[in-house]
Amino acid sequence: MSAVDIQSGPQAWHARTKEETCAVLATGLDGLGHDEAGRRLGTHGPNQLPATARTHPVLRFLAQFNNALIYFLLSAAIAAMLLGHVIDGVVIVIVVVVNAVVGFIQEGKAERALDAIRDMIAPHTVVVREGERHTVDAREIVPGDLVVLEAGDKVPADIRLIRARGLTADEAILTGESVPAEKREETVPADTALGDRLPILHSGTLITTGQGHGVVVATGSRTEIGRISNLIGNVQTLTTPLLRQINEFGRLFTWFAIGTAAILFVFAVLARNYDWLDALMVVVALAVGVVPEGLPAVITITLAIGVRRMAARNAVVRRLPAVETLGATSVICSDKTGTLTKNEMTVRHVVTAGGVTELAGAGYAPEGRLAAPDGGTARPDAVRDTLIRAALLCNDARLIERDGQWAVLGDPMEGALVTLAAKAGLHPETEREIWGRLDEIPFDAQHRFMATLHDDPDGTRRIFVKGAPERVLAMCTNQAGEKATGAIDPAYWRQRIDAAAAEGERVLGFAVGTAPKDVARLTFAMVETGLTFLGVAGFIDPPREEAIAAVAECRSAGIAVKMITGDHNGTAVAIARKLAIADDPKALEGSALDAMTDEELRRTVEEISVFARATPEHKLRIVRALQANGHIVAMTGDGVNDAPAVKQADVGVAMGRKGTEAAKEAAQMVLLDDNFASIVAAVHEGRTVYDNIRKVIGWTLPTNGGEVLCVIFAILLGLTLPMTPVQILWINMILTVTLGLVLAFEPSEPGVMRRPPRRRDAPILSRFLVWRIAFVSLIFMLGVFGIFEYALRRGYSEDGARTMVVNMLVVMEIFYLFNVRYLHRTSFSLIGAMGTPAVLAAIAVVVAAQLLFTFAPFMHALFDSAPVALPDGLLILAVGLVTMVVLELEKTLMRKVSPAASWNA
Ligand code: ADP
Ligand code: MG
Repeated sequence: MSAVDIQSGPQAWHARTKEETCAVLATGLDGLGHDEAGRRLGTHGPNQLPATARTHPVLRFLAQFNNALIYFLLSAAIAAMLLGHVIDGVVIVIVVVVNAVVGFIQEGKAERALDAIRDMIAPHTVVVREGERHTVDAREIVPGDLVVLEAGDKVPADIRLIRARGLTADEAILTGESVPAEKREETVPADTALGDRLPILHSGTLITTGQGHGVVVATGSRTEIGRISNLIGNVQTLTTPLLRQINEFGRLFTWFAIGTAAILFVFAVLARNYDWLDALMVVVALAVGVVPEGLPAVITITLAIGVRRMAARNAVVRRLPAVETLGATSVICSDKTGTLTKNEMTVRHVVTAGGVTELAGAGYAPEGRLAAPDGGTARPDAVRDTLIRAALLCNDARLIERDGQWAVLGDPMEGALVTLAAKAGLHPETEREIWGRLDEIPFDAQHRFMATLHDDPDGTRRIFVKGAPERVLAMCTNQAGEKATGAIDPAYWRQRIDAAAAEGERVLGFAVGTAPKDVARLTFAMVETGLTFLGVAGFIDPPREEAIAAVAECRSAGIAVKMITGDHNGTAVAIARKLAIADDPKALEGSALDAMTDEELRRTVEEISVFARATPEHKLRIVRALQANGHIVAMTGDGVNDAPAVKQADVGVAMGRKGTEAAKEAAQMVLLDDNFASIVAAVHEGRTVYDNIRKVIGWTLPTNGGEVLCVIFAILLGLTLPMTPVQILWINMILTVTLGLVLAFEPSEPGVMRRPPRRRDAPILSRFLVWRIAFVSLIFMLGVFGIFEYALRRGYSEDGARTMVVNMLVVMEIFYLFNVRYLHRTSFSLIGAMGTPAVLAAIAVVVAAQLLFTFAPFMHALFDSAPVALPDGLLILAVGLVTMVVLELEKTLMRKVSPAASWNA
């Protein structure tokens, strides 16, 4: 049947046998050929659902106007025009439109930044093509492809199973059923309901347990999920708790402003005898002055920049709120293997009842010989030979050599065992061929062992087991000795295991068993007891260099690090020491944790830095205990079972390389390099983002505060307004799109990681910030009235005096910007004075705009501005400089009074 027929409508694949399925799709156990796969990709198109319909740009633009303040402004503009103030009306409209355009562009930029990083974690899947396994982008899968899946994978397309082992899938997104559905190879009647189609794995569902492989029968929008809906995308919403808080605050503010404006209006007309049209313009000015309309857009940009900076440091944020939470993280719970350590394993020695064999060489190159502990040639040891064979066969890894470099396909620890076998003179491929594998129980962090069933060349069936040594010992009834099989010597093994673990070595135990000839399936019952213990192997897995530095950074930043590992207590503590996680790392074993109540755990959790022999369930309890103590917890995970803990954590972190799709979907952040240091880098950026948001707010609000104080002051005293409404709009617009935005790009302040984490409940407007805003507003008001009075006395017209006021405010804002750039130290330094290219560019734009405002005739017509004489311009600059000095003094004083005031409470 040709490829074209494959897409001729839905078929009841669940009613076809696997042989039929393969025949129809012209495929087999070797998968498709590369060329054929390419051809099918051409006919069927990429395996993806049509992109979610985005809000149309026009609608998105119009949404910028959907805000109470804008309505208010536009009504004021219409009123002004109707009453003959055409220019004022037009200027208001122009400013409103410019603001909307800027908001629209900024939002679009933020969205694109997020889109770009989403591609960095696009799902991959394992397919067999021409008999070999390949990891490919899930979008390249075609009908007929043979896909290999295991627990934690996301099903990339609709698949007819060929082989299933203990397979269950979470099909909630399709059926709403939260209990995982069992999956088997058997056919079911054609009219079976979706949720009961045993041999079909549906695209978009998650494998919860087991493993299997099957043939792709439908891709893209022809899958069940594609048919049900083509709206399931993962469009990220551009919102976070903080942003919602600020929007809420803005809305409240708007109504408050309108209310106050109404009262002032009445007051001005009745008590101050203002002409009612003038009064209307005054209160419009007030309302415009009070609301920081540009703030949400700038904060969105700040968050988006944070996301981009984190991505550049290998931490991809999946959910925007994580950017905020990261900065407040007070505990990081991390896996050990691969995250804190390099996950480049090398077998150092093998211990059997007969003695110890040492191995030379590092890395995966199969070079190096077996030696006796004293350095001499290794003694012959039949048990050791069996152990090494078990290690090679109970193993899914392969070694590849590329340009003289040896690398592992699969689990690094298993790769190290293949290297061990090669060093011992075994030929991995040949050996695996002779000892054909019939079945296996895959490794699982829960049961901590792996078992395989083989055809022994001598005609019997053989079981090989490897796993955590205590676990494997518990399955054995005797141990293999030099001469004969005898009773297990627990003391000997405990001493050997503890000694290796104390060195930081990872220890693995091995066992062998026999099975009747007719047995083809391996069950748990067959390995629970009756095996023969062979011995143990010790691996080194050195800590990552960067992790050591990152742990030190955490400690100086007041962030506790907890290692949670399935590994042996001794190994974990030894590695924790090398990493200096704590001065004297205290450990708790999973079994001891089981014996504790939640309350007890809550009390002890603070002082424990290593959780050994822990399972994913323990992770969940640990997260909860830490959260109950008020911590903001980041938790790493890679397996399916880690998903609940990752979800529960404030910042769930999944491994990008060895992590399962299940863990990634539960996570808020994905590490591209699985590296602990990347989490810390993300925290660093998270703190910077939060600092910058504070700077943006702390810098923006006083402009508004100063303007409002001026207007209220003028009305209460019956003075001439120092600024007209359109001038206020001008100031807000020109500042928000230039200087306000610059703060979003600020680099980290030195010392971000040398202060304690922000408290969970710390308000964004800290007391320090509130004080700051009030104080600076007051200074701005003084500056404004001072300059206004001065100008009037110098004989400037009202227009001229107002032009000086506008310039004064802008200049003070520029100086204030330099002050705000460092919240935690003085800005009077060389780098402080130089600013960043962004700062300088923004200032250049503002200065140019102000020159136009002051000297260009068309601006005079629009804004009623007038030229200012050079000496008066210099005076304005001088006042700005004085403002800066005053603010720096204040900052220094405040820091002396309360050193932590600037970031907490
Ligand atoms: P970690 O937290 O270090 O990643 P794991 O949960 O992966 O620990 O492993 C826990 C223990 O299970 C290991 O110490 C080892 O004894 C055993 N183990 C790990 N991987 C395998 C495997 N592929 N086969 C058999 N046993 C394994
Ligand atoms: Mg592991």
